[in-house]
Amino acid sequence: MSAISYEHLAKEGLQALGHSTAATLLDQIAQQAAADSWSYSHFLGKLLEAELAARKKRVIETCLRFSNFPYLKRLADFDFDFQPAIDRTLFEELATGRFLAEARNVILLGPPGVGKTHLAIALGVVTAELGYRLYFINALELARKLTTAFAQNRLPHTMKMLSQPKLLIIDEVGYLPLDPSQASMLFEIIAKRYEKGVATVVTSNKSFGQWGQVFANDPVLASAALDRLLHHSTVISIKGDSYRLREKRKSGLIGLQTQTN
Ligand code: ADP
Ligand code: MG
Repeated sequence: MSAISYEHLAKEGLQALGHSTAATLLDQIAQQAAADSWSYSHFLGKLLEAELAARKKRVIETCLRFSNFPYLKRLADFDFDFQPAIDRTLFEELATGRFLAEARNVILLGPPGVGKTHLAIALGVVTAELGYRLYFINALELARKLTTAFAQNRLPHTMKMLSQPKLLIIDEVGYLPLDPSQASMLFEIIAKRYEKGVATVVTSNKSFGQWGQVFANDPVLASAALDRLLHHSTVISIKGDSYRLREKRKSGLIGLQTQTN
């Protein structure tokens, strides 16, 4: 074969192997290689670097697309100065994603507006950026989903969908009580994930002592769920002020309400 056909083969071959970014950048990187007298491995390394970066980006985008996030929030957007009770270094450690490898659950407790959902989503973004699948779901939405799945004979499929991702985020556990069958299905998800060794993030406005109410007034089921959740876990209790109210205070809305009351 002549040199020309090998050049042709290089591009076609990359394309055929699914390395479309490398195929697109081949001419440009080859020209740079010639101009700067790169070694052959340097050239190949540069070509692979571009292909791998594009793949990583696609994986992250796919993970985010399937995340069911209501919106995106990052740890970098969180004002730790506003919530001094939260250990910033703890979140620096969580941001490494080690909790995923260790199947360590993260439980965020506290009153409304202190940033629980923000931080839970941010941990989900960390997960996606490491290329792992995650699923975010509000506890009420989860309960409804399970009830519907049960009624439609799709419970095993839904259970599988919820127990598989590297991270499941259950937001707002305890805002509304579950009925007994929902409580036992939620327990089953927690137990399955515990057995599989995959991490779960839970946010709640209820202290652990109140989880009996959350689990349909079944303290035995609640403590069985807590047992599994807390075995390998990081619990973060946020006791500070609501960030939402601070925003309102700033705009004078709360002051106005006080005057009219
Ligand atoms: P919670 O889930 O605890 O009720 P959220 O996470 O929904 O609270 O926070 C309410 C709003 O305030 C969100 O828009 C969130 O991004 C923002 N927020 C809360 N705390 C902080 C903070 N410390 N820094 C930046 N934004 C914050
Ligand atoms: Mg919330």
